[in-house]
Amino acid sequence: MTGSHNNTRVLIVDDDPLTRMMAVEALREGGYSTFEAENGVQALITFNAEHPDLVLLDVMMPGLSGFEVCRRLRATPSGELVPVIMLTGLEDSDSVEEAFHVGATDFISKPINWTLLRFRIRYVLRSAQVMKELVRSKDSLSSAQRIARLGSWEWFVQADDAQRSSQYYRLFGQHADTFGEGMLALIAHVYEPDRAMVHAALEGARQGIGYQLTYRVVWPDGSVRTLLETAERANDLGAESLDGLVMEGSAQDITEQVEAQRRIRQLAYFDPLTGLPNREFFREGLLAATARCLRNDSRCAVMVVDIDRFARINDSLGPERGDQVLQVIGHRLRDCMGDRTPAEPAGGGGLPRLKVARMAADEFGILVTDAGPVEEVLAIAHKLVQVVCAPIRVPGQEITLSARVGVALMPDHEIDADALLKAAETALNRAKRITRDQVALFSEEMKVAAFLRFTLEGDLRRAIGEDELKVLYQPIVDVNRREIVKAEALVRWPHVSRGSVPPPEFISLAEETGMIVPLTRAVMERVCNDIVQLGDALPADFRVSINLSGVNFMDPQLIPTVRAVLEGAGLQASRIEFELTETVLMRDLDYATTILAQLREMGIRVAVDDFGTGYSSLAYLRRLAVDTLKIDRSFVSELVDGQGVAIVRAVIGLAHSLGLEVVAEGVETVAQLETLRDQGCHLIQGYLFARPMSSRALAQSLVSASILPVDRPV
Ligand code: C2E
Ligand code: CA
Ligand code: CA
Repeated sequence: MTGSHNNTRVLIVDDDPLTRMMAVEALREGGYSTFEAENGVQALITFNAEHPDLVLLDVMMPGLSGFEVCRRLRATPSGELVPVIMLTGLEDSDSVEEAFHVGATDFISKPINWTLLRFRIRYVLRSAQVMKELVRSKDSLSSAQRIARLGSWEWFVQADDAQRSSQYYRLFGQHADTFGEGMLALIAHVYEPDRAMVHAALEGARQGIGYQLTYRVVWPDGSVRTLLETAERANDLGAESLDGLVMEGSAQDITEQVEAQRRIRQLAYFDPLTGLPNREFFREGLLAATARCLRNDSRCAVMVVDIDRFARINDSLGPERGDQVLQVIGHRLRDCMGDRTPAEPAGGGGLPRLKVARMAADEFGILVTDAGPVEEVLAIAHKLVQVVCAPIRVPGQEITLSARVGVALMPDHEIDADALLKAAETALNRAKRITRDQVALFSEEMKVAAFLRFTLEGDLRRAIGEDELKVLYQPIVDVNRREIVKAEALVRWPHVSRGSVPPPEFISLAEETGMIVPLTRAVMERVCNDIVQLGDALPADFRVSINLSGVNFMDPQLIPTVRAVLEGAGLQASRIEFELTETVLMRDLDYATTILAQLREMGIRVAVDDFGTGYSSLAYLRRLAVDTLKIDRSFVSELVDGQGVAIVRAVIGLAHSLGLEVVAEGVETVAQLETLRDQGCHLIQGYLFARPMSSRALAQSLVSASILPVDRPV
């Protein structure tokens, strides 16, 4: 979607041309205008010349560091408030600390998720707007004070003789002759609900007791204003006696100040888009609610509602529509929870009834106090899902969203507010990972999962030992030659009692426990044996690629193991290829360079897997001996209706300029295929042609070319 942020201008500062290029493509596609700078000095010059609305700033640059650039920007008047997003290294908490210290607005850690980048930027821009308003409010607060009018009085108590300054009368919209005589005449002008309080203060004053009081008054025209009044003894009479007591006081109109404070509070605690309380406010409300629960032995529930793939809605419909959708959802959730418009707590900081809050871009928090049994709470969660899923009509279109909810209960799961919120978020993450249910309750689910993982570990150990793992092969098709030219080996675990366990689940388990080393060895052996067995059924130059995890890559035994396995099977090294992710390759460049050189020497090729989701740095690509880039599935799936093309084109162009082969992963539709081919990518892997299959089926497909039906426009 272009054209929606036409006037938003982003300055991209990074010494790595590839990161800059990908950022430019991702942002241009989002309709932003971009400027680039390749070092700190250039960044400062471009900033002063172009006055961008936002700066994307890399931390690690030769010359001026990103931190220094940010510090200098903040020191200039025009750079004081511009949002600066710093690009920091992975999980580098010191950098994050430093980034905020020098005045960065936000940070994104590399590797950058390009799909979410645009969304993040928009969020930061909106916060910047709020910040500007906040500054404006503070200004108006101080000017309110400057022009504050003070009125004063003296009260000769025994004679009830009240002497008031003319300014004092004006605070009530009155004159001396309309105000009334005596101290208690004041009461008539006080706003009814505050009268008892003022009366009590005056009775105290009659006894010589001073006060400081905020009360509201009603002007003759009906308007209500707020005064702050202070009273104290004017004379010291010595102990006991009240004879001759004189009190004196002054009052000030603080209406604007109160309003400004309300406004600041509104800005600090409420989300401007939906008018709902924000995360900060939610936390405070939760704190009070949990304290109350402990006191009266009741129970409360926290739910976190997340809208599935909202970033995509935003991208395809444009940010204005995206905002409207969020407003509608905020409304619906509030209605569903019977929540009223979040009114300000009436004075005294009493706890507002907080039910629905906006926690993050597309995440809402729900607090249920005095919650019933678990089933009831879950029923509420399911109702919330339904409410979000009801079709939303925007002009010219009807959209249907889906949502996931994480639920945690107090005291059942946690008794601390922050821990409770975290538990709900953990449950939400689980709901996001496991697609079969949209609502996840913290307790049972998590305990079961932990237990499953525990038993899975033992099972996997046995499965590797007893050769239960299978390997399937997914063909990679050259659409120009109309031939299967390679295949990727993908491991499968047909678990006896649990059915097949998804690879990401047991691979991560194997990585954590070190079992990935024997697992990979088992896969390599299987692949080599299969290739040997298929013999002439495979063309002589047919390669099979094997996935290596980070642990495998760092394993000092990797090269010897590979040699041993190849020798054992009597297979040439040129028949296999390894797939490694960018993140793994980047972790230690010197080490990676050495290992890749050895692999190349042996004749084993290397592909960069999931390309685009990691650091995507041109510097490392140039330096490393890799042969192939595999464009990540997420980019391919974004290729809809002419969208997402720019970034894919950029990657293909880059690969070709470096003399690398490009494979597109996860191709599912003819439209994606055609776009990729138009952009010069002709090696295709994906369900469109074939799912992973047995080695025999692979050999069969090679002969019959059955996965390439003639009527398919390839
Ligand atoms: P990957 O390396 O990105 O592998 C591609 C995954 O995408 C495979 O999932 C494949 O079945 C799936 N896929 C292929 N075409 C399409 C498509 O058109 N649409 C969709 N939706 N998916 C498609 P799989 O087999 O479940 O493997 C998942 C991940 O597990 C792999 O991602 C890889 O990271 C890991 N993995 C699989 N086998 C091995 C292995 O032997 N060793 C290691 N270390 N990791 C493995
Ligand atoms: Ca792979
Ligand atoms: Ca991949």
